[in-house]
Amino acid sequence: MSFQAPKGTFDWLPPRSERVLAVREALVAPLRRAGYGYIETPVFEDTQLFARGVGESTDIVSKEMYTFPDKAGRSLTLRPEGTASVVRAVLQHNLHNGQLPVKLWYSGSQFRYERSQKGRYRHFWQVGAEALGSEDPALDAELIVLAAHGFATVGLKGVRLLINSLGDKTCRPAYRAALQEFLRGLDLDEDTRARIDINPLRVLDDKRPEVRAQLDGAPLVVDHLCAACNAYHEEVRSLLSASGVAFEDDPRLVRGLDYYTRTTFEFVHDGLGSQSAVGGGGRYDGLSEMLGGPPLPSVGWALGVDRTFLAMEAEGLLDESTESRLQVYGVPLGDDARRRMFLLISELREAGVSADMAFGGKGLKGAMKGADRSGAAYALILGERDLAAEAVQVKDLTTAEQTEVPLAQVVDVLKGKVQ
Ligand code: ATP
Ligand code: MG
Repeated sequence: MSFQAPKGTFDWLPPRSERVLAVREALVAPLRRAGYGYIETPVFEDTQLFARGVGESTDIVSKEMYTFPDKAGRSLTLRPEGTASVVRAVLQHNLHNGQLPVKLWYSGSQFRYERSQKGRYRHFWQVGAEALGSEDPALDAELIVLAAHGFATVGLKGVRLLINSLGDKTCRPAYRAALQEFLRGLDLDEDTRARIDINPLRVLDDKRPEVRAQLDGAPLVVDHLCAACNAYHEEVRSLLSASGVAFEDDPRLVRGLDYYTRTTFEFVHDGLGSQSAVGGGGRYDGLSEMLGGPPLPSVGWALGVDRTFLAMEAEGLLDESTESRLQVYGVPLGDDARRRMFLLISELREAGVSADMAFGGKGLKGAMKGADRSGAAYALILGERDLAAEAVQVKDLTTAEQTEVPLAQVVDVLKGKVQ
């Protein structure tokens, strides 16, 4: 039996793999222009970092982590998300003692042991951004605008932005208590009842219809915001409006941990079925302290690259056949020609022309078929007679027109043709 990729994972193969690289680049481009620097953290971390930094009561920590002991008995976990690692790195390297906010972006694999289905994988890719050390509604707005620009850059039209505020340590406790009182009056299973004490906001996020149906009259955090949180939220909203970024207020949008504060948002796409979130984020003013650092009010987001790609497919943005990036294809006939072609192809590549050649000692017919399939614009045909004449046949594969060019000039001639 041959091997298969593990359940919940898949391979990116050409030409889609090239497309997804371009999508990652496009999502990141707006960040680079806004002063965010690239950070790369390890793919695994101390398990405790995620237990504390993501939260024991979350789905991620309670059931989705790939945790294993290393050979020295340390408990390590494959990263399920990026924020905890970024905050850990900032604190470890004292970046927060320099200019604030510290602005960073990342792009990489994440791992979650989930029930795999379309748009929900065990290995997936996120692009993320974090701005650490400032409490300023303009920073929340900046990040949201940059994510919206990323989605616009890849051509997506159907991404909707949902926003909410979760309040802060002044106003959230009273809201939490009111919510708990409401939830205790509902008909809920035991696990969900247990959540009421640990993490009541998470109950609002329950996707089951029988739970949803009971949540209609639940108290909303927007009705409990203190004056400072209200003003902050209004400022974020008005900056978004002024930037021309459309949003919908979603008073039920939550992130259920105490160190998440104020602004919270999600980007959704309706072409994805139930896995509709293409990205999400918000403010996490208490996270640094949870990880043993000083107060460091921060905001960030993570965009799901795989789902962004699915959304692009749903919008028909990936339908047109892929442009081959190969410009020239070498067809050598005979051993001497093959050696000369090998060098010529190298020279072309060094001159900035993308080039490939027939390998495996193919004859004229097989090699010309390779040239056609490669999508190259020109074939270079080199036979024994050409070699003796120090020339090569340049065939335009679109018009089938063929011309003889001296070997000494062919690199320059082709450079002129393809650029
Ligand atoms: P969901 O509610 O869909 O489980 P989440 O709240 O777990 O999402 P985040 O942790 O906020 O997601 O991650 C940010 C983004 O990463 C999501 O909006 C989504 O696009 C993507 N993402 C999360 N989990 C997966 C997964 N298992 N497979 C593919 N993409 C994912
Ligand atoms: Mg999830």
